[in-house]
Amino acid sequence: MNIHEYQAKELLKSYGVPVPVGGVAYSDQQAAQVAEEIGGNKWVVKAQIHAGGRGKAGGVKVVDSIAEVQKTADAMIGTHLVTHQTGPEGSIVQRVWIEQASDIKKEFYLGFVIDRGSQRITIIASSEGGMEIEEVAKATPEKIVKEVIDPAIGLLDFQCRKVATAIGLKGKLMPQAVKLMKSIYRCMRDKDALQAEINPLAIVGNGDDKLMVLDAKFSFDDNALYRQKAVTEMRDLAEEDPKEVEASGHGLNYIALDGNIGCIVNGAGLAMASLDAITLHGGRPANFLDVGGGASPEKVTNACRIVLEDPNVKCILVNIFAGINRCDWIAKGLIQACNSLQIKVPLIVRLAGTNVEEGRKILAESGLSFITAENLDDAAAKAVKTVRG
Ligand code: ADP
Ligand code: MG
Repeated sequence: MNIHEYQAKELLKSYGVPVPVGGVAYSDQQAAQVAEEIGGNKWVVKAQIHAGGRGKAGGVKVVDSIAEVQKTADAMIGTHLVTHQTGPEGSIVQRVWIEQASDIKKEFYLGFVIDRGSQRITIIASSEGGMEIEEVAKATPEKIVKEVIDPAIGLLDFQCRKVATAIGLKGKLMPQAVKLMKSIYRCMRDKDALQAEINPLAIVGNGDDKLMVLDAKFSFDDNALYRQKAVTEMRDLAEEDPKEVEASGHGLNYIALDGNIGCIVNGAGLAMASLDAITLHGGRPANFLDVGGGASPEKVTNACRIVLEDPNVKCILVNIFAGINRCDWIAKGLIQACNSLQIKVPLIVRLAGTNVEEGRKILAESGLSFITAENLDDAAAKAVKTVRG
């Protein structure tokens, strides 16, 4: 799960990390009000979407009057902002964050990620921060430094000093850098974050130099949300695929893909196998929807409805290997779905496991035209044949 930049900044602030003074606004008048309240003579208006690359796409603007704050907020709110991270359809800007503009002397990159190889939180830092970090990583990878954190010991001062020195921080900035890195690490651990990306971390000020976080991106472990109430409350459903949100509300897992065969399965392993089998037969899955264990007829009906919300779906492949599930319930759910949703696309059904005979019998006696399949391979082949016409 991701959060907005302003939420990340508020979170970091609560851990004592220096961030600009700011406020969130949902309208242009509110934006002007926020600018008035926070004071200063230069502000940054920042579109809040769950994607970076906003600076280059016109989603971050520095202005020097309250009237300009209002005008800029008005121009941003409600538009589709397309950045190199959003995909061509962009994201709708629902709110903006107004903060005091800083005098930037230098921008750095500071990321905390989980390194899959070492299975540890790793700091990634660079003296070349700001909007070109992707190019730095490609063209001059030696300008990126890494420091692996031992989970049993935690992040030690000398490691922070090593990273800070490597990116060129020294003197009065050194203790600030150590404190900042340790606070971010503590925040990450406390909140079950998977990633904390600060870009830029900047030296700001005139005369009295200070380190400040000017942009922050956080993502969290979905499997830990049950124990992270404050994090869960920051979730912005408008930023997520509406079908995935609806599915999770019904206790289903929906993942959108770009083909035309809808897949209703139970279990992530069977989902992967189904996608592979479809691909092997030359087809392309439109999604996969995992009904999980113990799927009631209602759950199966909801699954069909969600899959059919994708207009690209030309047929539905139902592949169930029932253990905790019951094939008779799945069959009842499918009949219920056919009757209540008036499904016009072919349904290919492969049932195996608990109560399979009963399930097959229910389908056969329903009078509805299901295409039944013997096994996974047969089901995938039939689905691909159906969409090819
Ligand atoms: P994104 O990463 O989505 O492009 P950022 O928040 O990093 O958005 O902003 C882009 C650039 O705008 C930064 O690299 C920085 O140069 C500038 N910027 C951002 N916030 C401020 C601020 N508070 N004061 C001055 N400049 C800022
Ligand atoms: Mg940034």
